[in-house]
Amino acid sequence: MRKKFIAGNWKMNLNRSDAVALAGGLASQLGTSDDVDVAVCPPSVYLDAVREAISGSQVALGAQNMYHEASGAFTGEISAGMLLDVGCKYVILGHSERRHILGETDAAINLKVVAALAAGLLPIVCVGETLEEREGGRTQSVVKGQVEGSLAGLTAAQMQQTVIAYEPVWAIGTGKVATPAQAEEVHADLRSLLETVYNSEVAAAVRIQYGGSVKPGNAAELLGQPNIDGALVGGASLQVDDFMGIIAGAKS
Ligand code: PEP
Repeated sequence: MRKKFIAGNWKMNLNRSDAVALAGGLASQLGTSDDVDVAVCPPSVYLDAVREAISGSQVALGAQNMYHEASGAFTGEISAGMLLDVGCKYVILGHSERRHILGETDAAINLKVVAALAAGLLPIVCVGETLEEREGGRTQSVVKGQVEGSLAGLTAAQMQQTVIAYEPVWAIGTGKVATPAQAEEVHADLRSLLETVYNSEVAAAVRIQYGGSVKPGNAAELLGQPNIDGALVGGASLQVDDFMGIIAGAKS
């Protein structure tokens, strides 16, 4: 049985005091309840402050990106070891904003995924098609190519530690959510792909989140689909009540 996993991607939002207040609010509202895994992924400059605010709670810490090298002359970059050092458990890799705005390729994402796992960080690897690709009937091939490229070479054990986030680009930050049936179709395809590449045990174990305009009002139906194991949440993770509403949807 896969435990549902709700992660908040705060993107480049909030300031230090708002980040600490949001994290503290979530930590106190969540209490000791651990039937759903919950993580927040603040901007990297606030990781340390947020770690303190969630200390002792069920909320885990995640980063939004990292570089694949361990250290050295890579100005502006952050390594997996540094993220672990500030208390991160997860790292989001290959988010569509990084793929499409910052030009990240599957090959670059793959290097990061391998480095994250080698260091002991759990990657949340994002895949998803654009509207043009969906309308061209290419959703399945695009998502398959992204999974095969960005997760290339992972062992079965590493794959089981990796979370996949299916995030249709046309649904991110647009208010246009995929229908539960549209999302479930892609999630089921992804699980079959994992079975083909690995085996049924791996396919049954990997958590596949949905992301794209998840809100308290649509969370329960999306999260009620058999192959949707959680959500990666952008906009609605910036308010305690909205994020708690989505967590409640994962429990229902
Ligand atoms: C995201 O950025 O991963 C995301 C899903 O954003 P939103 O929930 O705002 O669509």
